[in-house]
Amino acid sequence: MIQKTMEWAKELPHTAHTQAVTIGQGVMVGGPTITLMAGPCSVENYEQTRLVAAEIARLGGRVLRGGAYKPRTSPHSFQGLGREGLEILRTVADEFGLLVITEALGVENLSEVIEFTDIIQIGSRNMQHYPLLWAVGEADKPILLKRGFMSTIDEWLKAAEHVISRGNDRIILCERGIRTFETATRNTLDVNAIALIKQTTSFPIMADPSHATGRADLVMAGARAAIAAGADGLLVEFHHNPAEALSDGDQALPLVTMAQFREEAERIGQAMGRNII
Ligand code: PEP
Ligand code: MN
Repeated sequence: MIQKTMEWAKELPHTAHTQAVTIGQGVMVGGPTITLMAGPCSVENYEQTRLVAAEIARLGGRVLRGGAYKPRTSPHSFQGLGREGLEILRTVADEFGLLVITEALGVENLSEVIEFTDIIQIGSRNMQHYPLLWAVGEADKPILLKRGFMSTIDEWLKAAEHVISRGNDRIILCERGIRTFETATRNTLDVNAIALIKQTTSFPIMADPSHATGRADLVMAGARAAIAAGADGLLVEFHHNPAEALSDGDQALPLVTMAQFREEAERIGQAMGRNII
């Protein structure tokens, strides 16, 4: 249960208690701490992934993110390493005692993804892919359900209900920015959504300031806002050499800045009465 620092918040109508989702021994999303899930947009090779994993572990992080099956807007862009990417993720995560989150792109490869991951990510483009939602609803793994970039909060919550309708209620929501009239940033981080989900539902809510902004120089600001709005976790892209990243290099934070990022997140977290893991 979230420890609210502001006593009056308990009195607000509709303030619900978040039901934490356990994603590994001692890792609870939606509990007292804020969970940082970090890693590259795409798993590109073993060395690249291992570098990120080593840094996460060194700083006390618990969860490694990385895409193996990538939902790319253009078919000419890098599409991910597929099974090889899943194998790399699992190998390096196990070496450093980390948990894995990776995206399942379709029903076809779901069982393969489940074999290698600890959390199944449903991407923004798939938020209303109902057969996939039903399939993960039958899985025995927690789900990170990203918000469709053109979906309302109501549609997003109904997508979560589709998953629950098949039995799996271990759902973490993730606000990753929505499409608005604004083009200066890739998406618009809907901070309202974070606060609203937190106050009116029992789902843990995370934020992805990388996709929400699309610009490395804005990711920290998005992260600060998300934590201040009550986010239970952050999903953030890091790369040892963003200029060479095979996907989403513009929004990747340099790996050398991960320690600084965590410190800054910790500072805001503490203002909310929460530590970062
Ligand atoms: C990702 O996390 O790499 C990703 C593709 O995100 P989204 O589905 O939010 O675009
Ligand atoms: Mn990405």
